[in-house]
Amino acid sequence: MAVSVLFRHPSSLEHDTGAHPENARRIVAIERALGERDWLGWDVRLSPAATREQIGRVHPAEHIDRIERLCRRGGGMIDLDTLVSPGSWEAALHAAGGAVAAVDALFEEDGVRCAASLHRPPGHHAEPGQAMGFCLFGNVAIGAAHAIAAHGAQRVLIFDWDVHHGNGTNAIFHERDDVLFCSIHQSPLYPGTGPASDVGRGAGEGYTVNLPVPGGSGDAVFLSHVEHVVRPLARRYAPDLVLLSAGYDAHAEDPLAGCRVTDAGFAGMAALMRATADELAIPLGMVLEGGYDLAALSRSVLVTLEALGAAQAPSVPGVPLDPLALRAQERLAAHWPALA
Ligand SMILES: [Zn+2]
Repeated sequence: MAVSVLFRHPSSLEHDTGAHPENARRIVAIERALGERDWLGWDVRLSPAATREQIGRVHPAEHIDRIERLCRRGGGMIDLDTLVSPGSWEAALHAAGGAVAAVDALFEEDGVRCAASLHRPPGHHAEPGQAMGFCLFGNVAIGAAHAIAAHGAQRVLIFDWDVHHGNGTNAIFHERDDVLFCSIHQSPLYPGTGPASDVGRGAGEGYTVNLPVPGGSGDAVFLSHVEHVVRPLARRYAPDLVLLSAGYDAHAEDPLAGCRVTDAGFAGMAALMRATADELAIPLGMVLEGGYDLAALSRSVLVTLEALGAAQAPSVPGVPLDPLALRAQERLAAHWPALA
């Protein structure tokens, strides 16, 4: 029987950010919603702490040391948005460790085809040498690097549907072709990176796929990019693993951005990605990023896990080709002729 595994850890509650949109109540709300539904039958486990070696695959030692030192000294501000408390060190280690453990379960355990890592702090803004945007370590990047280093994955697809550009993941894999980083994000918006023209560099040229969309974009635009850009790319790239960098701040009710995605939109994107992983016969992992309206966040995580853990990918009605997705296809054809 196919099993889905969920990693969590109480240290996520000890990363004390004070009066801040990225706070412990996010995890409390998600876990309460899942708990009321018996965790959807998922196998719930405590995540381990990531090791320095695992984190060190994407961050230099000085960065790791700096975060640890600041936490041990009692915490403090890293920038105007990003701060740590004494408990942040353990929280960050387990947030990265959850992504690593999810990847281990997917590659090592028979019957596990789906795993989720639900922790904070989030990770996709953390650059190799710089914490920023509420993020300390690049959790999803650490998971991808682990799949390659420890499990021999040749290619990993990371799809980031957080409303903000995942500049950290983008920077970490910018010059590599063994990770295809694909991000849909509102533009203009924090952190200001991720134009369509940023396609990666050197050996990584073509393996960074940025899909900026205007504020106000909703289900039609997001689903169209998944169906008509991300899925064809995945078929062509033929990854050994797909990781979702899953933020929920593109939700219509989210206070930090201006997109209009609904619960059903997130369920649809999850179903399409579940279908893609099934079609390619590869495992799928989900790593939590942002999402700041507690009710919308917890509902949307729930419907995501429902779709990802379903025995069969829920069917999604035909997704029309949005003009923005068509333009992305045309642009990407230079590197991905199959999209033409
Ligand atoms: Zn975000």
